[in-house]
Amino acid sequence: MSSPVSAPVDATAEREVLKPDFGARPRHFIFSDEHDQLRDSIRSFAIKELAPHAEEWEETTFPDSVFARMGELGFLGLDKPEEYGGQGGDYFTAIVLAEEIVHSNSGGLGMGIAVHTDMAMPPILAFGTEEQKQEWVVPAIQGKKILCLGITEPDAGSDVSGIKTRAVRDGDEYVINGSKTYITNGHRADVIVLVTKTDPDAGYDGFTLFLVPMDSPGVVREKRLEKLGMHASDTALLAFQDVRVPASAVLGQVGKGFYHIMWELQGERLIGAAGCVAAAQQVFDKTLRYALERKAFGREIGKHQVIRHKFAEMATQIESARQLVYTTAWRFANGHYPVREISMAKLHAARIAVEVADECIQIHGGAGYMKEYGVERAWRDLRLNRIGAGTDEIMLDVIGRSYGL
Ligand SMILES: Cc1cc2nc3c(=O)[nH]c(=O)nc-3n(C[C@H](O)[C@H](O)[C@H](O)COP(=O)(O)OP(=O)(O)OC[C@H]3O[C@@H](n4cnc5c(N)ncnc54)[C@H](O)[C@@H]3O)c2cc1C
Repeated sequence: MSSPVSAPVDATAEREVLKPDFGARPRHFIFSDEHDQLRDSIRSFAIKELAPHAEEWEETTFPDSVFARMGELGFLGLDKPEEYGGQGGDYFTAIVLAEEIVHSNSGGLGMGIAVHTDMAMPPILAFGTEEQKQEWVVPAIQGKKILCLGITEPDAGSDVSGIKTRAVRDGDEYVINGSKTYITNGHRADVIVLVTKTDPDAGYDGFTLFLVPMDSPGVVREKRLEKLGMHASDTALLAFQDVRVPASAVLGQVGKGFYHIMWELQGERLIGAAGCVAAAQQVFDKTLRYALERKAFGREIGKHQVIRHKFAEMATQIESARQLVYTTAWRFANGHYPVREISMAKLHAARIAVEVADECIQIHGGAGYMKEYGVERAWRDLRLNRIGAGTDEIMLDVIGRSYGL
């Protein structure tokens, strides 16, 4: 009688030969069949209705009608409550949107939509009154009203506590003075979620958010700012000159605006990280196709070991960032507040996306430098992610401080 210890020899002999599943793209456990269907429908919308205009919108910025169309298709409220016209989906539906919108081939468009759905809208839903949600969230989900978010000022970006925009109570109203810069959607928005100081002596307890209609007297949309990439989005310098709003325009609690906006930034960073991974994958895929066609020294360039290894490095980076984003998204969606991991995901995804796009330009050679191939645009668009929503240096500082340093 054979003993159990000798069994592995026989079992090995009989075992089926396992082959690597290189062709498979296994679905991550956070996603279901419904997410896959949603993924297909957003992707086909982006390819059919957005991508054909990507070049034109680099010159003109994308039209407001994109919001209306996406509202009609239900894409602006995927994870928002049904009572406000949303689809009532889970947080991962928002991740799917961030990933699939990259097929518009327009980083600027993706950013304009994300500011609306995942940066300005969440604080209104989380901290707003019923009236504020009816007034702004319902039409925003329909794509009939456009939202923007005003944190950054000419003299204060990373250091949010250094902002100078003041809101001073005057009877039943507040009077707002100050300026905001680099505001995405700032030229087209109907309302801004505005970060102000109501009590400059109260430190972090001296901030208050407001919902300021952009057609209020005293709101001046100054310059349309020109930039390195993200050309399809509009970026505004805004001034607030004795802007009067009723006390009902306060969003959340007076004095709690700093904490409200720090919460908002977590969702913004995670969605941005998901978009970075998807954009990196897209430019990788495009470059892989190129490397299998373009020949040099008698073979496809991708078959030279140096280039093959570049792809291996990039794929490993993309996959590591993807896993970090998905695991962190799972925690965020399940009631954790993983600020450290969100900062890591944002830092890592933004860095690898820029590195991948840069390497893809290299693999394309001269073609990579030409507009026609779209790889240089991917690099220019992605470069913002190491700055916007918190710079690399700020992410490192948040992570470092989380260890008590
Ligand atoms: C295209 C675009 C769109 C944007 N959209 C919006 C928007 O819709 N709404 C909005 O409010 N903002 C928006 N921003 C602003 C963006 O979030 C800020 O640019 C960013 O937070 C950095 O702030 P800053 O530009 O003032 O840089 P600064 O804070 O002046 O930083 C300059 C440099 O100093 C470094 N630094 C600063 N502090 C530290 C520190 N403590 N330790 C180490 N290094 C430090 C930074 O990392 C950076 O390298 C946008 C920016 C761009 C470019």
